[in-house]
Amino acid sequence: MTNPQPRDPGSRRPPAVAPLPLATLIGRELRGERLEMPSVRYGNAGLAKRGEDLFLIKPDCVRIPGNPSSSFSVFAIFDGHNGVSAAVFTREHLLDHVMSAIPQGLGRVEWLQELPRALVAGFVKTDIDFQRKGETSGTTVTFVVIDGSTVTVASVGDSRCILDLQGGVVSLLTVDHRLEENVEERERVTASGGEVGRLNLCGGQEVGPLRCWPGGLCLSRSIGDTDVGEFIVPIPHVKQVKLSSAGGRLIIASDGIWDALSSETAAKCCRGLPAELAAKSVVKEALRTSGLKDDTTCLVVDIVPSDHPVSPSTPKRHQNKLRSMFSNLRSPNSANHTNKFSSVGAVEELFEEGSAMLEERLATNLSSKANSSPFRCAVCQTDRTPNEVLSVNQVSYSSSAVKPWEGPYLCTECRKKKDAMEGKLPSRSKASR
Ligand SMILES: [Zn+2]
Repeated sequence: MTNPQPRDPGSRRPPAVAPLPLATLIGRELRGERLEMPSVRYGNAGLAKRGEDLFLIKPDCVRIPGNPSSSFSVFAIFDGHNGVSAAVFTREHLLDHVMSAIPQGLGRVEWLQELPRALVAGFVKTDIDFQRKGETSGTTVTFVVIDGSTVTVASVGDSRCILDLQGGVVSLLTVDHRLEENVEERERVTASGGEVGRLNLCGGQEVGPLRCWPGGLCLSRSIGDTDVGEFIVPIPHVKQVKLSSAGGRLIIASDGIWDALSSETAAKCCRGLPAELAAKSVVKEALRTSGLKDDTTCLVVDIVPSDHPVSPSTPKRHQNKLRSMFSNLRSPNSANHTNKFSSVGAVEELFEEGSAMLEERLATNLSSKANSSPFRCAVCQTDRTPNEVLSVNQVSYSSSAVKPWEGPYLCTECRKKKDAMEGKLPSRSKASR
């Protein structure tokens, strides 16, 4: 049974799980020899003003312990505010929480299909665990998982990840969760019991960007911010794409970069440079434009076809125009060996979902058989008895007994978190200000 959501702003998209294209594409990739798996090169740069930007670089993760051919990489940026502890805690625990939300023993295709749901569970669990510490800082998270040429990005807050493809096509893989710029998020926060408005100076003059009250935060989603309100949710926007055989460049950076540079400028100012120099170049360009106003952190990740000696998507600067004019002509030749996948410069969008409604984000394609326990909480992954769990859609304990096929389930604590995020419980936080 579904519980209608009267507070929903009405602009939800249907779950956009696309199992078939992904299975087909990856199947093709696996049949088309392991040799064609791209490699990953990266660099980072940054300048601190307050010391609240952190990053994570883990190029050596494995899906199956002891099996290097199941490797994937993780790159992330955490822009902390009101202290650094939420950023430190999230960098420490988020990856583990995401991985523990993916059932054991899955093949690569199923693993990638489960990843968007696991990212949501991992973000929410990390937020719940951080709240227990009783600290008040918060952090943005832009968390990127790269497996072969499949890139999955989960984000809360306003750090961004952009994708620069051969031919000069730049696209944004994240959404800015800023109250000033995001109408949908403003409506959600208001509907969940928050107030949105500008800072009031004496005399009634309104200044600065839109903020939510209590708390005064400009962001609508983050991890932490225990003193603000549960309507600031940790549920990430998730986007999953598959790059063509030409690869591509990711630029992941905190708002210190994006307040100074457009996506296009950031991509352009480092084309032709190897990743390490590219990251430095983006930071330098941001400083040249606006000075050091905020922590400024940048990760550049190149996904490079394994038989290409040079970085993808990085024509020398003076060749940009020429290269993009001829990109269509050049494609068939430069991708001779991999034409069977997709055209050079193209990208397959596999999944995108940004809803803040938890039950929409925890739906799984897997049969309950895949889980070792039929009553495992979909967020914190602890096993419960039937009496201890509620189906994510269930109205209350007074409903008829929970049956094994009505999952996904939430334990009492995670269910409380869900209700609080939707404004159905009084905020725990008001007393702390
Ligand atoms: Zn739970």
